[in-house]
Amino acid sequence: MITGTQVKDAMEAANVNFVVVRECSICNAPIGYERKGENLFFDGNCGCSSFRNPTQSRNYEDVADLINRQSNSEYKTKLANKFGLQLEAI
Ligand SMILES: [Zn+2]
Repeated sequence: MITGTQVKDAMEAANVNFVVVRECSICNAPIGYERKGENLFFDGNCGCSSFRNPTQSRNYEDVADLINRQSNSEYKTKLANKFGLQLEAI
């Protein structure tokens, strides 16, 4: 199991500042997690709505949970890699 601390350390070590988890199905805008210093945010905004959701504060534990609950190991590894994590080493 991956922990929030591992996610945080990996993102810092790999200097990952933005991770795209999906793209808007309409405008293809990247939607994902943004790291600003010590803090992590989720930015779900895209170009097809005039209403902008405020960027939401997230915990690194949320990302760890997201990775941990993936049942497809191939996708899980890919997702972890986006955050700078090497699953093989954990
Ligand atoms: Zn969109």
